Amino acid sequence: MPLPATDPLEHRVSVDITVIGSTNLDITATVPRLPGPGETLLGETLTHSPGGKGANQALAASRAGASVRFVSAVGSDAAASQALALLEADGVDLGHLLRDPALPTGTALIAVDAQGENNIIVIPGANASLDGAAVTLRQDVVEGVVVLQGEIPADGVDAAVAAARGRVVLNLAPVIELPRAAVLAADPLVVNEHEGELTLAQLGQDPAGLDEAGVVAALREQGVASVVMTLGSRGALVSDAAGTVEVPSVSVSAVDATGAGDAFVGALAARLAAGETLVEAARFAARFAADTVTRPGAQASYPAKGAVSFEA
Ligand code: ATP
Repeated sequence: MPLPATDPLEHRVSVDITVIGSTNLDITATVPRLPGPGETLLGETLTHSPGGKGANQALAASRAGASVRFVSAVGSDAAASQALALLEADGVDLGHLLRDPALPTGTALIAVDAQGENNIIVIPGANASLDGAAVTLRQDVVEGVVVLQGEIPADGVDAAVAAARGRVVLNLAPVIELPRAAVLAADPLVVNEHEGELTLAQLGQDPAGLDEAGVVAALREQGVASVVMTLGSRGALVSDAAGTVEVPSVSVSAVDATGAGDAFVGALAARLAAGETLVEAARFAARFAADTVTRPGAQASYPAKGAVSFEA
């Protein structure tokens, strides 16, 4: 399938951060209870909201003060503009998107019952088109801190690592099979507990018997320059050549943690691009992510620019 051509000279604004990753439209129905196999039931409310880890992280980085370029693949459909609406309003550079003529914009179909239990069907759609060839075609616009996740094809992530001229923030969520060199290019690798174990296994080391700090130490011993392990309301472990530090979470009255991990990664990248140390950036990211859990939704919960100050 021919890919739409992009002209690298068309968008010459330099940016602090390039996020290369997924875009989804989340379509959420609230239901009195989750339907069983073959069952039809009436839902209550229906909402369409922008999602996808790449898009979430791009918006978070922008709201945290960075100038951001977002490289992603969407369909040539109405869902694409809904999915990108908040990024566009924020002034994120969307000049290098791939608009797939055949596949739909990535979609998550979510049913949530009265107890908050959910069923989710994710259709990657156009996200599957952001492969190695598509990223390589855009390699000239990969500038600044490069932020990557696991919701596009592995060869797309690998090509982005190869194209990166700046620091690579690799959020291996979900964990996908990458060449060892791509994982070791991360600075930092950002994972939660479960993703940390899976990544260590991928690097050839059995995580059995290791606690969280042990997994972080083992990832570093494998050759990852720096690691941030997010631990939900317990905060994060941050490890680099300067040592390993526990960054506590900020105590808030939590309403909805959807997209908190992405808020953390985007804010972390923004502060790294501004020249802060990894620990300084993680302290800011913890404040930014905590703020988002006080409001419902993913992108809808992200604070306005300047609303979260760096000073504690
Ligand atoms: P997801 O991808 O589902 O958002 P994750 O597992 O990648 O989740 P978490 O570790 O749950 O990410 O959260 C990321 C960061 O957000 C945490 O390190 C913490 O700083 C902040 N955070 C999450 N939940 C809370 C909470 N209840 N209170 C305060 N901060 C929180």
